[in-house]
Amino acid sequence: MKDADGKEANQATDASSGADKPVATPVPTLQPDPTTQPGSMPKADKEPLISASPPDRKPGKQPLLPASIKTKTVYLTFDDGPGRYTDQIAAILAKNNIHATFFAIGENLKHYPKQVNHLLDAGHYVGLHSMSHDYNKLYKSGSSANFIEEFQQEQALFKKITGQDVDLIRAPYGSAPQINKKFRDDIVDAGFKMWDWTVDSEDWSYKNHPEKVIGQVKRQVRGNLNVILMHETKQTVQALPQIIAYLKNKGYAFAVYKPEEHLVVNFAHDDRL
Ligand SMILES: [Zn+2]
Repeated sequence: MKDADGKEANQATDASSGADKPVATPVPTLQPDPTTQPGSMPKADKEPLISASPPDRKPGKQPLLPASIKTKTVYLTFDDGPGRYTDQIAAILAKNNIHATFFAIGENLKHYPKQVNHLLDAGHYVGLHSMSHDYNKLYKSGSSANFIEEFQQEQALFKKITGQDVDLIRAPYGSAPQINKKFRDDIVDAGFKMWDWTVDSEDWSYKNHPEKVIGQVKRQVRGNLNVILMHETKQTVQALPQIIAYLKNKGYAFAVYKPEEHLVVNFAHDDRL
């Protein structure tokens, strides 16, 4: 089912089931399960407030990639942190002398400020992934208002925690189909850039099966430019060394997002983003 729609694993803290069927219209009218409120406030060193699990859905479209990329390049991206696996992921990247791009959830930034600063100090890029990762809050109204507000809130929080400005975002569950033209206009007006991905590792769905995560990456990576969607999960940590080894063996260089060398990677092929 490599090209089938990703299935939501449904952690208690994330309402996403039912939101995984792309439909023809890009209007966010899909009806996910009601959000389950996080049960108890986590301790800083325990589970993050937002679970790293069930996240970003496979979209129907692939982003249009610039033809200018002449070398085989891969961007590793890790969503839904920071959290208890961030340090392990960073250690694997350091061991391989490569950098990656992370998309952090605001509520998790509050609990793991040290981790995000470590990532930045080590040369990784950290972008924004909303405050709540809550499908209903972000998309259900059909308006971009809550979405923009959450990302602006997270942008300010990020500045407070890291001292840095950031404008690259990744829409929870991806930008298709829930983000339409008007929605994108608003994102542009708010000054954000937005990245989707080209390879969905589906790592969140393969609990205890890192080999399946590796298999997805091997099946989907192709061409000169790949943006690989992964999440901060245990199986991702387990799979990562082999994924990196495979890509190195295939001749890929590892790139990290740079605002001054921004590439358009979104499902709508919107070159304003
Ligand atoms: Zn996510």
